[in-house]
Amino acid sequence: MQIVTASGSLRECIRAWRRRGETIGFVPTMGFLHEGHTSLMDLARPRCDHLVVSIFVNPLQFGPSEDLDRYPRDPEGDERKCREAGVELLFVPDAFYPEDFSTTVSVSGVTEGLCGDRRPGHFEGVTTVVARLFGMVQPQIAVFGEKDYQQLQVIRRMVRDLAMDIDVVGGPLVRDTDGLALSSRNAYLSAEQRRRGLSLSRSLLAMRAAVADGTRDVETLLVRGRQVLDADQVDYLAVVDAEDLTPLEVVDRPARALGAAFFGSTRLIDNLSLEL
Ligand code: AMP
Repeated sequence: MQIVTASGSLRECIRAWRRRGETIGFVPTMGFLHEGHTSLMDLARPRCDHLVVSIFVNPLQFGPSEDLDRYPRDPEGDERKCREAGVELLFVPDAFYPEDFSTTVSVSGVTEGLCGDRRPGHFEGVTTVVARLFGMVQPQIAVFGEKDYQQLQVIRRMVRDLAMDIDVVGGPLVRDTDGLALSSRNAYLSAEQRRRGLSLSRSLLAMRAAVADGTRDVETLLVRGRQVLDADQVDYLAVVDAEDLTPLEVVDRPARALGAAFFGSTRLIDNLSLEL
């Protein structure tokens, strides 16, 4: 596995591969890798000739009071996990944005509501960094996790609207054995917060069970979900159209339940499909 820090060296590799007509698969991450991340690499590997992973904690997608400065890091562990996952090139940029960087990529519609409302500027930061990474890596396929369900829909929309010739693949959300969605941010949780953090996935499961029992009214589902959720602060609990993320009043089409809540100062997100 090559570890590349300079964008010039990355460009040389990418050019050589493309010149030979070989395909590139890409998994962008912010590091502190876990099985959620490596599951995306496992999805990408058989679909390309060269698997590229990036690790970059992107300041543009963090709000002023968020955890940019304390975001967990584990360069050696990340390197080992990438090697084991068959990554060919690990891109860990030393300098990412040019000093006079002046472009923003902004998607409307699917960025509204949910995390878009609670984290102003977040999705612009995401689409801007991903667009620049796509320009550098020039992948034919890119894999993103359903863990960040709204982000996945936003990236799909950007790729479609800007006619980027990239196949965006969504990878299923990977959970710990007890049901907690794997997240780099789980490292912040105390034992007590982690125990209560489980109530987020349980509240979504309770909503799914209510749908299976015949409940279709979303307000009733949300009351059920809130009864189970034991958070210090709930950012949102919502049931939306699975594709365009518009809020539903009745579950009468493919739908997704999503939640975001604080346990102590740690914000966790989770989501689950609601099957009819
Ligand atoms: P991050 O490092 O948090 O920016 O995540 C990088 C990629 O990994 C994103 O596409 C995430 O959606 C994905 N990811 C993070 N956690 C999980 C998980 N538990 N299951 C599946 N994908 C995940």
